[in-house]
Amino acid sequence: MSRIIASAAIRGAHKYVKDAEEKLNALIKEKGEEQEVAFPNTAYYLPAILALTGIEVKTLSDTKRALEQAKLLLPPLVREKLWLPYLGNTLDAGIVTLIATEIIEALKYVEGYKPEGIWLGFTDDNTLRLQGIKLVDGRMSGFAACVGALPTNEQAVELARSLQQKNILVFMVSSSGGKSMAEQLAEEGIEMNWDTFLVPYGKDTSSAILALNFAVRAALTFGGIKPEGPQNAMEVARKILLYNKERVHAFVLALGADPGVNGSGQLITDEKYAAAAGAINFGFPTLSDIDIPQILPTGICTYEHVVSNIPLDKIVGKAIEVRGLEIKISEVPIPVPYGAGFEGERVRKEQMQVEFGGKSSTAFEILRGKPMNEVEDGKVEIIGQDIDSAEVGTAMNLAILVDVAGRNFSEDFESVLERRIHEFLSCANGVFHMGQRAIAWIRISKEIYQKGFRLKHIGKILVAKIHDEYSKIVDKVQVTLITDSNKIEEPLEEARRIYYERDERLGGMTDEDVDTFYSCILCQSYAPDHVCIVTPERLGLCGAYTWLDCKASYQLNPHGPNEPVKKNKCLDPVNGQWEGVNEYLKVKSHGNLERFNAYSMLEDPMTSCGCFECIVAILPEANGVMIINREFTGMTPIGMAFSTMAGQVGGGVQTPGIIGIGKVYITSKKFISADGGIKRVIWMPEELKKEIEDRLHKRLEEINEPDLMEKIATEKDAVTSEELLAFLEEKKHPALSMPPMI
Ligand code: SF4
Ligand code: ZN
Repeated sequence: MSRIIASAAIRGAHKYVKDAEEKLNALIKEKGEEQEVAFPNTAYYLPAILALTGIEVKTLSDTKRALEQAKLLLPPLVREKLWLPYLGNTLDAGIVTLIATEIIEALKYVEGYKPEGIWLGFTDDNTLRLQGIKLVDGRMSGFAACVGALPTNEQAVELARSLQQKNILVFMVSSSGGKSMAEQLAEEGIEMNWDTFLVPYGKDTSSAILALNFAVRAALTFGGIKPEGPQNAMEVARKILLYNKERVHAFVLALGADPGVNGSGQLITDEKYAAAAGAINFGFPTLSDIDIPQILPTGICTYEHVVSNIPLDKIVGKAIEVRGLEIKISEVPIPVPYGAGFEGERVRKEQMQVEFGGKSSTAFEILRGKPMNEVEDGKVEIIGQDIDSAEVGTAMNLAILVDVAGRNFSEDFESVLERRIHEFLSCANGVFHMGQRAIAWIRISKEIYQKGFRLKHIGKILVAKIHDEYSKIVDKVQVTLITDSNKIEEPLEEARRIYYERDERLGGMTDEDVDTFYSCILCQSYAPDHVCIVTPERLGLCGAYTWLDCKASYQLNPHGPNEPVKKNKCLDPVNGQWEGVNEYLKVKSHGNLERFNAYSMLEDPMTSCGCFECIVAILPEANGVMIINREFTGMTPIGMAFSTMAGQVGGGVQTPGIIGIGKVYITSKKFISADGGIKRVIWMPEELKKEIEDRLHKRLEEINEPDLMEKIATEKDAVTSEELLAFLEEKKHPALSMPPMI
């Protein structure tokens, strides 16, 4: 049977080569051979071609060279009886197809193509880095390239949901019977983007190359494989294809028949066969719901190569089996799908049934360890009205109190588990969660409300997930949800006290007291080179991870995001630089960072991801720094609001002069101590000043500057830089007479 595939794939490859050649010649005629060719924002030229041939395609003339290479591999159009019983020709046809389709897609950009509507087109390197790391480290279990469409929109939604639920990224390309799966999802109002794991590439079958050149770049970016030019192309290509076979768990789903192809009884187009042959080279098998010929013997793929005629409701399961994927699915007893694919999903105002917290009401969450006999396992209690009582689109108050008990549970673990509430709730389809502690913000969509989602399901998710992930230390979990405004104040007060105590617990400990710091690389999911080094006197910049948290988290899970980092030799006690930290940093930033200073914001400062509680920025004209917290939306003396400034830090790069920090760090003795410390602070929003008032007082007493409190301006005193300078001079702020910052 596979001879049919071979000859169809070869025919497809021939068509693509012809197509590419015609387009290319026309463009050369029109624009000349030196016309530039590039996908947007990538350092890898035409990535598949770079990987397979070593050619760096920059111009139409380079493109021509690449196409010539492809033609050398193009197997002749054979009659079926000449087919040989091995995959060689199919594989060659696949390679040719990869090259030719990449040329076709790249030439679209030369012609001025801009992705429109639902289609996203080429994935740039930035997105690749943000998302690809999840594939590589296992948070995404793999990707499915869905080619074609399903019989009905409902089935398309079902397929998408079942893939999302298994943390499988979904690429959508091509069409069958004139329709594509992405269009079906769009018609059903499904949110499609990288964050929801649903990525529509393009409607042509040739756009399948965009999924494959994503896979190629994953190998180049994360696999440490370097292109070495055309001489060593074979060896490099082999490494890239092997890397993909072993680490990128992808497969192709060929969905739906193409009526009337070829008149030969063939059910899908030659082009689709050719694209499938391209994928087989990567070890990515093809599965289909229709009766196309199979290629069962193993060889390139781990198991079968093409498996067909699978009922749609079984196709995901079968794909997982054929690709050899290991997927852990959490059994969460709620009426909506649950999985990492839903974590980044937003619930917009128009879509929301009800919200809690944010700017509209009070919401907070706290997790505490309790004695065994005070916790009834699995109990979810609601105090107050359920969400049925709220008018659609309005806000309610909510307290989420999680009590856990376990023989091996220690108080140190509380904040570690509490921090996970964000992720646990976000992974439910239709639930949006942001923030933590008393700045939590939750939305529930109308869609899931109609499916029967109620408050108790928030409790059920937490019970299920905490058992699932922390069975080592937790034996019992119970959740209390309070919406009653009269009963929420007291636990809120108590929670604030506990947050405060937790932050204070570290108070007495200094960086000099310990020989080991901890790392946090949780945020590498989107800032791939970002590393937080968490010391007793400097907590993670999100404010959620103190040195103790990281220590506990490491005990719980030695393979998790927090690792001990030995300080070893101190290289610079003033700036806060240690040999052991630098070495660790080099490895974990994938060679992108050499060193970092824990106590300076000016010289080799720590990197920032995106979730800092505050930004500290230098105001050179005033010889000091301003601090702005995330909640403050007004203008600042630097002429930018928080959101604008946040765009300038972040992404895991060092940006001297501007850093992201956790609030507690402001009153640490090590707060930019190399740059002059707390005396440099000249401006902060009033609400932040109020929030840290007690600690700030204490700190200012320590340095014998109690008056400094009044000398730090807020938005009430100054908004522009001129106003600020006038204020500082009037108050005789010490920063003005300190040595110049730069
Ligand atoms: Fe970890 Fe730092 Fe991200 Fe916080 S900001 S989660 S400490 S990497
Ligand atoms: Zn972060």
